[in-house]
Amino acid sequence: MCRHAGYVGPEIGVGELLTRGAHSLRTQAWAPREMRGGGTINADGFGVAWWRAAESVPSSVTEGEGQVRAAGRGDTAGRGGVPDSGMGVRGGVVVSRYRNPAPIWTDPAVEEVLPQLKSTAVLASIRSATVGMPVERAACAPFLGGRWAFSHNGVVPGWRRVLTAVSSDLDTAATQWGATRLFETAQLLEAESATDSAALWVLLGDLLDSAGPEGFVESAGAALALLATTVLTHAPDARLNFLLGDGAQLWATTVHHALSALVTDDCAILSSEPYDDDPRWQPIPDRCLVTARPGHLSVEPLSQAGRQAV
Ligand code: GLN
Repeated sequence: MCRHAGYVGPEIGVGELLTRGAHSLRTQAWAPREMRGGGTINADGFGVAWWRAAESVPSSVTEGEGQVRAAGRGDTAGRGGVPDSGMGVRGGVVVSRYRNPAPIWTDPAVEEVLPQLKSTAVLASIRSATVGMPVERAACAPFLGGRWAFSHNGVVPGWRRVLTAVSSDLDTAATQWGATRLFETAQLLEAESATDSAALWVLLGDLLDSAGPEGFVESAGAALALLATTVLTHAPDARLNFLLGDGAQLWATTVHHALSALVTDDCAILSSEPYDDDPRWQPIPDRCLVTARPGHLSVEPLSQAGRQAV
């Protein structure tokens, strides 16, 4: 099973989140400690996303995407507007990404390039492909859209059937709430790779587009929790450790996989496994929604966190 980690805090080298600590993500790729549900190594690639202020983006990018900052659902420059460019602009930040479907320990960029890129927010993942799912670059998290980066550690058994049913449930709920067809089943075909994780990201992206005080879901955390609880109604055995970041905050769910948090006044880190022996790491219980930013950690039961604004 994959591993992932997110960081928000003082500026670090982007590569640091991959290599930091005696039990770094890179080490976890070939020697993970806590692997529930099969898999012994994470050799099917990796990815890392990082954020920076939109102002620091070359004008050729900001000119093309400038209107995205204020975009909502339906705007051409929304989540779907920046599909596989590896970059997205929204809310004044740009998220960029590097992915490689080869084992992380074989990529010299991890030592030679990624440490030179600096950011105050980084989200990284190493992958062990679920049996039957393609090993390709497009299947490596993080998945990007707008200002968001997303990773899924786990599996949805029978994902095509289950996520089609989830899409239909969400569409019914959204329609009852008053939205017009937020979730079209065909949208699952838009997933950039034929994997459960990429398809989950399509559904979550739609939920995030409709999140807000006036929206179908009230917040990003509620979107994550609603997606997880709806999947569980169709696939109780699903493993759903989600990790989402927007450059300022991290959200995560725990369903059948490990997660630990280290939050101080200066920084917030969520990681499948603690990457060092810092005594401040806290294990997160199963079936929870976690919200973390510097100086703030909240952990609440998933069942109470999926509240919709209905
Ligand atoms: N099921 C996902 C994939 O194959 C995630 C795999 C995992 O968590 N190991 O990409």
